Amino acid sequence: MEFTLPDIPVQLLDDPLLDDCGLSLSILRTDLVHPVISGNKWFKLKYNLLRARQQGQTTLLSFGGAWSNHLHALAAAGKQYGFSTIGVVRGEIPAPLNACLEDAAKAGMQLVPMDRASYRHKLDAVIENDLRARFGDFYLIPEGGANREGALGCAEIPSLYNEHDYDLVCLACGTGTTLTGLASTSGIPLLGFQVLKGDSYLENQVTAQLLDFGLSSTCEWSINTDFHCGGYAKTSAGLLHFLSEFETRHRVPLEPVYSAKLLFGIYELSKKRDFFPQNCSILVIHGGGLQGLRGFF
Ligand SMILES: *Cc1c(COP(=O)(O)O)cnc(C)c1O
Repeated sequence: MEFTLPDIPVQLLDDPLLDDCGLSLSILRTDLVHPVISGNKWFKLKYNLLRARQQGQTTLLSFGGAWSNHLHALAAAGKQYGFSTIGVVRGEIPAPLNACLEDAAKAGMQLVPMDRASYRHKLDAVIENDLRARFGDFYLIPEGGANREGALGCAEIPSLYNEHDYDLVCLACGTGTTLTGLASTSGIPLLGFQVLKGDSYLENQVTAQLLDFGLSSTCEWSINTDFHCGGYAKTSAGLLHFLSEFETRHRVPLEPVYSAKLLFGIYELSKKRDFFPQNCSILVIHGGGLQGLRGFF
């Protein structure tokens, strides 16, 4: 199985707003890694698929919401690498299918609804056994690709840029798996932007993941919790205004769930003047996931 990466461009933003604050911002365009297996999901799936193949598994099963970037990428990856895929969807499956699930179904993914109460306990043995009774043997990938293999793929992201050019790497965080992977190899500090509400769940989660996955951190990392804009997939007028202004100025596509919150947060913090050190050179990881835009506009 070949997981060859194309050249991933790093785009330096030309922006007087940043010059004023003494910042330089570059974007690692991981959204361009693959037309469908987008952004960090490509990295999270790589070692999961290799492991599944090694174990002789032919079916991959995972979980996600009705607009899950993870299920969307998994369906495409299954098709590309010759696995059957089963997507367990939180709550009801919309009829007709939304654009995300329609893509997944067209890629051959079998979509299975799971009521929200069961979904909260989806990793309990009872539920997993029930899934195995219904669908036979499969390789299970946790929601969001949040396992050791997922983190190991993301640990390769720092090899895509020259660390000497930057002082800080910023990224959007949901499960924190991408941050965990990066933290295990990065030579420069990381700042994660949490896109869900909640005070310190993500910091605890990254700490727990490092331990669970047998990884140790090679850099300083921290998490900002101020820019979730109301919670997961919630938006604010300020966020949407920022998104469209930013896209017009820089021709970098964003979506409201992750990348817009990340950049909005960086621009807001830059206005504080003393948050980032003077002449700080920041690398932003664009996590991809642009398919999710179709759920908003
Ligand atoms: C899934 C996703 C993330 C979150 O990654 P985690 O490893 O779960 O923290 C960030 N950005 C985009 C675009 C995503 O699709």
